[in-house]
Amino acid sequence: MNKFFSRRNFILIPFVSFFKILFNTQKVYAASKDSLNDWSFSKDEWRERLSPETFYILREEGTERPFTSSLNDEKREGEFKCAGCNQALFLSKHKYDSGTGWPSFWDHITNAIDTKIDFKLIVPRTEYHCSQCGGHQGHVFNDGPNPTGKRYCNNGLALIFVPD
Ligand SMILES: [Zn+2]
Repeated sequence: MNKFFSRRNFILIPFVSFFKILFNTQKVYAASKDSLNDWSFSKDEWRERLSPETFYILREEGTERPFTSSLNDEKREGEFKCAGCNQALFLSKHKYDSGTGWPSFWDHITNAIDTKIDFKLIVPRTEYHCSQCGGHQGHVFNDGPNPTGKRYCNNGLALIFVPD
C-alpha cells in the first residue's frame, strides 16, 4: 500500500485516468469502424464509392484483362491495400512474378482475406475477398512457389499500393 501512495503514483494516477478515457473513446470508434454494418453498403452505395471498373471487380466478382495492371511491375517495398476499404492485404515480400499477367502473391497478411468456393467456370475455384469489406480480390491456386505453394492471383484494380 505504501508503494501505491508514493509521490510518483499520485502524479501518475491522473495521467493514467486521462489515457484510459482517451483509449476507451478510441476503442469505441475502432469497434464501430470494424463492425459489419459499417461495411455492408448497398450495391448503389458501393457504386457511388468506387469507380465503375473497381465496382465491377470488388462487388460483382469481375476479372480485369491480364497484363493491364501497372501493379504487375510494382517492385518497391510496401503494402497492397484493399481498394474498397483500405485494409492491408499483402506485403511486397509476398509478391512474385507468376507470368500470368495479374499481380500474384504467395501469401497474405494474417486474417486479411477470407475464401469461398465459386463455380463461375463450372470447375470449382477458390475465390478470396477482403475480410473487412467483403470486396472480391481474386482466386487462389495451388501452383505457387514455396513456402506456401499458393498463388493468390489478384486483380490490380482491387488493390492500392502504398510504398513504405
Ligand atoms: Zn476491403
